[in-house]
Amino acid sequence: MKLFTSVQDIVVYVKNVKKNGKTIGFVPTMGSLHEGHLSLVRAAANECDLVIVSVFVNKKQFCAGEDFDKYPRNLENDRKLLESENVDILFTPSNTEMYSDGFGAYVEVDDKLTNCLCGAARPGHFKGVTTVVAKLFNICQPDVSYFGQKDAQQAVVIKRMVCDLNFSTGIRVLPIIRDDDGLAMSSRNVYLSKNERVQALSLNKALCTAREMIKQGEVQSSRICQSIKQILMLEKDVKIDYIAVVDNNNLQPVEIVKANTLIAVAAFVGNTRLIDNVVVDGK
Ligand code: AMP
Repeated sequence: MKLFTSVQDIVVYVKNVKKNGKTIGFVPTMGSLHEGHLSLVRAAANECDLVIVSVFVNKKQFCAGEDFDKYPRNLENDRKLLESENVDILFTPSNTEMYSDGFGAYVEVDDKLTNCLCGAARPGHFKGVTTVVAKLFNICQPDVSYFGQKDAQQAVVIKRMVCDLNFSTGIRVLPIIRDDDGLAMSSRNVYLSKNERVQALSLNKALCTAREMIKQGEVQSSRICQSIKQILMLEKDVKIDYIAVVDNNNLQPVEIVKANTLIAVAAFVGNTRLIDNVVVDGK
């Protein structure tokens, strides 16, 4: 596995790869890798000639008061995991390598997609995400880029950016990988105490209940939200940020569940903000 920390060096390398007609699969991450990340890496390896993984904790997508400083960083372990997956290139730029003095150009996607759901509580988060992902696309020149459904809103926002700004990469969004007990894997799960981790299971439990209600014929979003709320409120350390039932293409609320409806929740469990979601088709 080749390691790059310099933008200039990886750009030169990628140019050569492209010249040889090889396809590049790209997996952007913030590191502290788990099976969710690795599922993206494996898909990239299956579908492309060469896999690039980036590990970069992007300060610009953290809001004031969020966990940038304490975000879990474990580069040595990440490197080992990626090596064992036969990843070709690991790109780990520093903050100054990505954002040099005088940096002042940003990529923003419409408010309609970025101010709702997670964007409501995290102003500027998606501007940070789209800016870094646009930079990484320009640097790595992927043919296909891989994202997780875990970050459902991010996937919608990135697809919009790629379509509207004519990036040449394809976008693949892959299913949420969960621990055996159903908790969606997240680098932030390490923050949870034993007791909080048990309470965190309520997110998946509530979403499974919602899916079951829909299977049984429920179509009213308000009733589905109410059931999710009731389940989450049983846990004393769970504080709901939002419960949303929206169109999975444009993130606009839907009153009646239909095909490709995203049911998404965000909640603090203790001090840890977790997200989870399910996509249903109203049948
Ligand atoms: P992050 O390191 O949290 O920025 O995540 C990097 C990529 O991994 C994003 O596309 C995430 O959606 C994806 N990802 C994170 N957790 C999971 C998971 N549990 N299942 C599938 N993909 C995930």
